[in-house]
Amino acid sequence: MQMPVTPKAMPPSEKVLSFSSQLAHERMITPSEVQSAFPETYFASRERFLQSAEKIHARIFTREIIPRGPDNERLHIDIAHIGAEAPRKLILHLAGVHGVEGFVGSAVQYELLRATPVLAEDTALVLVHCLNPYGMAHLRRVTADNVDLNRNLMPAGEKWRGATSIYNLLSPLLNPSSIGFSWSLYPQLWLKALVHGKENVKDALLHGQYNEPRGLFFGGTQHEEELVILKDYLTKRFSAAERVVGIDVHSGLGEFGKQTLFLEIPARRARFGLLEKTMGITLTPEPDDYHDPRKHPRGALCDELPKFFPKAHVDWFLQEFGTYNPYRVLAALRAENCYAHIGHVASRWEAAQKLKEMFAPADIRWRTAVLRMGTQAVAQAQLALLV
Ligand SMILES: [Zn+2]
Repeated sequence: MQMPVTPKAMPPSEKVLSFSSQLAHERMITPSEVQSAFPETYFASRERFLQSAEKIHARIFTREIIPRGPDNERLHIDIAHIGAEAPRKLILHLAGVHGVEGFVGSAVQYELLRATPVLAEDTALVLVHCLNPYGMAHLRRVTADNVDLNRNLMPAGEKWRGATSIYNLLSPLLNPSSIGFSWSLYPQLWLKALVHGKENVKDALLHGQYNEPRGLFFGGTQHEEELVILKDYLTKRFSAAERVVGIDVHSGLGEFGKQTLFLEIPARRARFGLLEKTMGITLTPEPDDYHDPRKHPRGALCDELPKFFPKAHVDWFLQEFGTYNPYRVLAALRAENCYAHIGHVASRWEAAQKLKEMFAPADIRWRTAVLRMGTQAVAQAQLALLV
């Protein structure tokens, strides 16, 4: 596994964000430091996020959501706002959109808060600890309504119905009524890919669907509470922002211990070269057929969230950390989802532990690498505010 490369960024003309001490990508970081950065549970993560935010006198926003934790605990969306109260420039770091993936983003935030952020007077750093606390607490990728939040930000007027035709074909395989051993997922998917085309099968998995409320990749029937809370928070506080850089942290797709940094506002593709040069990093563009509704998922945050900032030029980055073989990840998702809906509590919890490993591997080299890449991305992304 390669360690992240030191960026060769252009020196910024002005610095809007620095940190009082060195972050994970700038110093030697010991295995025990890395392990302690990764929380064991949503609740442990939340507690130390609030403590760290309080310690640096961040403004803290907390909102309880309706669903409860596995032992009926209360669940909250917590946000730390550091720097200018009504900033012109804003860096938004978003963790836990996909619940169980929140262990990674919250580890990065723990490291960011360990070194006090120093911001220019017109700039703010906003850390959303976990947008889907139910998913993180229950080790699910979805909300209590089985909804993928990154397929739930449907634009006004669009129908909450539909799925790709391949998803409909794959559905009995993806959403079985029991997990048996007669056929494994892999050969069946391989066969489907042979018949229908690998890309079509991949699209069916990435696109989300709005027909099967208990199925994988369900986008919902209305905006979920979590996104309503986020929209309310951002639009009330940051309507004056002129420049926004968002980093939405995910895991589970790609090569083990490597990152893909997608620049997700394709209308601004012209900025690509400039941002790559300024940030000293390789970005991945969305594909050319991004605007083709058959090719692009609906309800993705990257399309609608920038509209929360009516006056701002927004660069939205999706940081994706690769973990295991996609078939393994999919098999784990399938098993956990199946047990969740048939009500096998013990089997569901066992499957959920495997899901956690799929999205936040315990491997110390993986954790070290993603922690370093996570803090490095914030240091790099703030440079995007300057161009
Ligand atoms: Zn994700």
